Amino acid sequence: MDKRDSSHLKAQKMARIRDNNTCQICGSHSHTAGHHAVDYQFGGKASTDNIVTLCGNCHKKVHNGTMDIFCIK
Ligand SMILES: [Zn+2]
Ligand SMILES: [Zn+2]
Repeated sequence: MDKRDSSHLKAQKMARIRDNNTCQICGSHSHTAGHHAVDYQFGGKASTDNIVTLCGNCHKKVHNGTMDIFCIK
């Protein structure tokens, strides 16, 4: 089920470089990860346009629904 091909990994890496490894919500550098704005399993593209860098804290909130990724400008 969780099958990501190398294009996704590459896009995530590129997005983190683009975002300077900085959380795009709060600006933290702690435990950053590339988050798919539209998840690949819902047809999200393996493209940096579809990936935002988030810190561990915000990432958790986005996934449990207490924070909305689409409020990011
Ligand atoms: Zn954050
Ligand atoms: Zn995520």
